[in-house]
Amino acid sequence: MENNNIKKQNAFISEEEKTLNWDEIQSAFKKSFGSEIYNSWLQKISLVKEYNDYLILGVPTRFFRDWIVSRYLDKILEQVKIFKLSLNRIEFKIIEENKQNQEFIKINELNKVTEIKDSILNYNRLNPNLSFESFVQGKSNDIALSYSKKVSENISRYNPLYICGGVGLGKTHLLNAIGLELQTDNNVMFISAERFMYHFIKSIKKNDMVNFKDFFRKSSIFIIDDIQFMSGKESLQEEFFHTFNSLMEKGSQIIISSDRAPMKLDRIQDRIKSRLSGGLVVDIDTPDLELKINIINKKIEEIQNQFKESINLSDEVISYIASESKTNIRELIGILNRVIAFSRVHNNDLTINDCKNILKDVFNQIRVITVDKIQNVVSNYFNIALSEMLSQRRSRPLARPRQIAMYLAKKMTTRSLPEIGRRFANRDHTTVIHAVKTITRLSEQDDEMKKNISQIKSLLLEQ
Ligand code: ADP
Ligand code: MG
Repeated sequence: MENNNIKKQNAFISEEEKTLNWDEIQSAFKKSFGSEIYNSWLQKISLVKEYNDYLILGVPTRFFRDWIVSRYLDKILEQVKIFKLSLNRIEFKIIEENKQNQEFIKINELNKVTEIKDSILNYNRLNPNLSFESFVQGKSNDIALSYSKKVSENISRYNPLYICGGVGLGKTHLLNAIGLELQTDNNVMFISAERFMYHFIKSIKKNDMVNFKDFFRKSSIFIIDDIQFMSGKESLQEEFFHTFNSLMEKGSQIIISSDRAPMKLDRIQDRIKSRLSGGLVVDIDTPDLELKINIINKKIEEIQNQFKESINLSDEVISYIASESKTNIRELIGILNRVIAFSRVHNNDLTINDCKNILKDVFNQIRVITVDKIQNVVSNYFNIALSEMLSQRRSRPLARPRQIAMYLAKKMTTRSLPEIGRRFANRDHTTVIHAVKTITRLSEQDDEMKKNISQIKSLLLEQ
């Protein structure tokens, strides 16, 4: 029954668009989530519709959807992105089992009409959960938060507003919150620099630049996330520069995020850097203990309200989690979710010692593993020189280790595909995707590969 449905669903995706093999993704889910979570949740998700940059997945109930969204969405997205980089959003559709087929037909017919408009509407999806209300104030984000609110009340006063800070510190959350505040009265455009590029290239290929320009220049609020992504991409920067100027001219508010201050951006044209610093630059710092504890409590409160379930974590455990999580808030929330999942299964009050055990793996992986380290360990393991592994030579004794190192960099660090590519002698992110796919496949089929990967992983975790 279930397989049948999967086939039917796929049939509605036009051949041109269809790149995902849902069965393959399901196996990846099973591996990364473990069979317990997989059997209770992931397995029941079906693929309804595949677009270039997002997926519609089918789930049986509203509760099911909320649960998945609150627990697993990030990780699901991360997983499917391995198979298709251009994806950056997932939507869920509630499909009661006996109505499945009808629903698909309806969606399909609808799509024929709205496909073009849809691809444009996609730019604007804001996440209703990432609001000011759910954003916890602390010393490290105080200034960024207060100016984000000011911009939402009184646009064009600080223009552009530029928010910078490290990974997982709340930039996207703030950008999204501004978008939510302003969307009722304004034409809000919220897009990541990566997606901006994707549509830019697509428009060039389709010879449709006029629409592209029009579309972006129409917005009265233009929010662009992770601008550092434009690094080294000259023609994209050119286009962005003109979009930026024309928006400023007509008085649109521009809000930008990046991992660093404008003047520190790497391989970005000087005239853009100076435009970016022309308004107000605010930064978000790493959170202190107090903020981390407040965020944990807020998250617990959200989960309790949403699922009508009580979560009992002692203050001691909460401060332990907060103090152990050193890098960022995304990691902190990930760790909290693990602890909650564990306490739910074991149905008891957790001690610090339980926590230590649960988190050993997580901390090991997050803290110690870097791309450099992976490259060193892999080249040692295969007994080749690091410079050879990174070189352009394509002979298999070099190419395989190189692919394995890329695969592990994707799996064990938080680096993005383009970043990983750059660390491998400036390779393109598509090369990294190819490596991840190849090694994923081989490690399933080939025992030797499986053994290699697991030995290298333990070497990495030991050190
Ligand atoms: P960035 O874009 O800087 O990498 P995100 O905005 O994606 O970081 O934040 C990572 C995660 O941490 C998100 O789930 C976000 O909601 C959460 N988060 C970050 N800062 C806060 C905060 N101050 N209060 C509540 N949640 C936060
Ligand atoms: Mg972000």
